[in-house]
Amino acid sequence: MDNEKKNILIVEDESQISRFLQLELEHEGYECKVVADGREALSVALDSDFDLIILDVMLPSLNGIEVLRRLRQDKQTPVIILTARDQVVDKVTGLDIGANDYMTKPFAIEELLARIRLHTKRAATPAVVISCGKLSINPEARVATYDGRPIDLTKKEFDLLEYLMRNRNIVVGREKLLDAVWGFDFYGSTNVVDVYVRYLRSKIDDVYGVTVIETVRGAGYVIR
Ligand code: CA
Repeated sequence: MDNEKKNILIVEDESQISRFLQLELEHEGYECKVVADGREALSVALDSDFDLIILDVMLPSLNGIEVLRRLRQDKQTPVIILTARDQVVDKVTGLDIGANDYMTKPFAIEELLARIRLHTKRAATPAVVISCGKLSINPEARVATYDGRPIDLTKKEFDLLEYLMRNRNIVVGREKLLDAVWGFDFYGSTNVVDVYVRYLRSKIDDVYGVTVIETVRGAGYVIR
């Protein structure tokens, strides 16, 4: 347990919600600062070091997504975004540009507190977004997007895509992919790699008319 109190910046223009959050968080032993305006939030977040930022999306002067985008050019402070119900786009965009987590309003305070504990604990590990052109993945949140639009992937498809993206510009052989994604104890044939590459192409290349995963004859696959 830290002796020093953790600092949380609450960015929310609905005073009822921000007041409630402040009371709950102070009760839990956090120090809080409340800001109701997007532009002000950005300057406060850049000027001071917070352990975490709770960031509403719909804000006056500068929306939360824009605040986050500009903040991430300089800082990796953990951010939990608050989105309105059914704002899937905000959620995906937020994670895509480096939010660590999101909560949909209305939310249970216990759940928010749990997520705050989680993200202040590993504050040293920033959310990492890997991008290749319009294709982005957030391995921590396990979200993949093309041009900001979510790609619905199975676990293995995501693992394969992540491995190729982490090794971009390197031609990776089927055996290597099989070891990395399916593990050494996989007894099937390397054809499974081709099958999953085909799945990925049907969900990305075919949908957007692009070539993301290139086949290098006799060598393997590569994302450039
Ligand atoms: Ca709002």
